[in-house]
Amino acid sequence: MAHINENFQKLPGSYLFAEIARRTAAYQAANPDKQLIKLGIGDVTRPLAPSVIQAMHKAVDEMGSADTFMGYGPYEGYDFLRQDIITHDYAPYGVSLSKDEIFVSDGAKSDCGNIGDIFSVNNVVAVCDPVYPVYVDANAMAGRAGDYDGEKWTELVYMPCTAENGFFPELPVKVPDMIYLCFPNNPTGMAATKAQLKLWVDYANEHGSVILYDSAYEAFIREDGIPHSIYEVPGAKTCAIEFRSYSKTAGFTGTRCAYTVIPKELKVNGVSLAELWLRRQSTKYNGCPYIIQRGAQAIYTEQGKREVKAVIDHYLENARIIREGLAEAGLTVYGGVNSPYVWAATPDGIGSWEFFDRLLQQGNVVTTPGAGFGPSGEGYIRLTGFGDTEQTKQAVSRIKAML
Ligand code: PLP
Repeated sequence: MAHINENFQKLPGSYLFAEIARRTAAYQAANPDKQLIKLGIGDVTRPLAPSVIQAMHKAVDEMGSADTFMGYGPYEGYDFLRQDIITHDYAPYGVSLSKDEIFVSDGAKSDCGNIGDIFSVNNVVAVCDPVYPVYVDANAMAGRAGDYDGEKWTELVYMPCTAENGFFPELPVKVPDMIYLCFPNNPTGMAATKAQLKLWVDYANEHGSVILYDSAYEAFIREDGIPHSIYEVPGAKTCAIEFRSYSKTAGFTGTRCAYTVIPKELKVNGVSLAELWLRRQSTKYNGCPYIIQRGAQAIYTEQGKREVKAVIDHYLENARIIREGLAEAGLTVYGGVNSPYVWAATPDGIGSWEFFDRLLQQGNVVTTPGAGFGPSGEGYIRLTGFGDTEQTKQAVSRIKAML
């Protein structure tokens, strides 16, 4: 008789987005004349850049001709893309990498979850609180999280990130073996400085921990002095894996392309994690499609760079409108400078869900309650710059009028 992985039965339902959808639908059904504006959306809305489309069209044509047709590609991605990643994403920041340290994939979500395959189930895992839920649920499925007590997982180390610590986690007393960090952060929208990351790199090297650094929002970094890669921090190559994605960088949420960097120097008990990851990927994954990798490569041309930057500037402008508008309305706001996410404290300390309901019913604006990202998200809401600028402006004036 087969037995299931019982860890799946410990998982709470995906309450957050289901509950937002339920409350939104109920309000809309009762008020069909109201025009709701969605600022909770975590997906991009602008189309793919013309350079990307052109490159993918060309690749489609190549697939249609016997002499240029491509079958299975390399598990770790084509050389052309890995070389451009090194040249354009890392070299300008003084980080030298070689192609066998880059692993192209179909998404940072899958990589952040799948990376657990190469680690022991007995490792202690630390996550920021609030957190992108994938790190938590993937480790719960693997059996590293213990039991869910209705608020937290018993075996995870939660590292609160609140206004009190500048939304940057403090070094935990109980030393974790695997540490998920994400900067610029989802959901708080806050970026980390090199000095802040250095604390973690030193801590991880001292204790033999591995940092799993999610850099999915790197392309939104605009301020000087904010590192674009954890490898800008001395010592990071012996303790950190970095995840990158074309999803928010170039509108690939539906197209799917990302990559993970594992430096050769990163070893656990003398075993190379890059070698383990290649073994894992070559067994369970057959590579990101050629057409998609050609599309991703197009963002590294001069024209492609300009096009994707213009789209990110558009989202950042929306984030600025939200950030400044809510501040004018009297709310305390964070993030939204090097990130599409704005994290706002609820007025008078009311609960996230209560404020969500008020914004929905009185302002007709849909947001995301911070409590859905973890206990320390209580008392905050998340708004995103991924919408349309006119609608964003309208939503902000509604919130201002309401408050
Ligand atoms: N990491 C973070 C922090 C995210 O917010 C997201 C998407 O929202 C992802 C990873 C997923 O990236 P991908 O689309 O490449 O799977």
